[in-house]
Amino acid sequence: MACRLGCGACCIAPSISSPIPGMPKGKPANTRCIQLNEENLCKLFGKAERPKVCADFKPCPDICGGTNQFALETLLELEMLT
Ligand code: SF4
Ligand code: SF4
Repeated sequence: MACRLGCGACCIAPSISSPIPGMPKGKPANTRCIQLNEENLCKLFGKAERPKVCADFKPCPDICGGTNQFALETLLELEMLT
């Protein structure tokens, strides 16, 4: 599937341990990435500074579902399992 642009759930729900510009220690779970803009798009998309873990995350129906809320809830559930 293609990413539902403007969703942003995978930039909010999961914790990220890699450094992110502006968040040198990464980000905690359930916290907006500082690089997520008001349209819920990544300000670093296509740039070398974008963490590898972000580029490696691929949209899939099981996680992203049909709504932004579904994706947020699913990613938060996965976060609590790890
Ligand atoms: S959770 Fe899925 S649909 Fe939402 S922004 Fe991330 S990859 Fe795209
Ligand atoms: S760097 Fe970009 S893709 Fe990665 S979590 Fe932040 S906004 Fe999302």
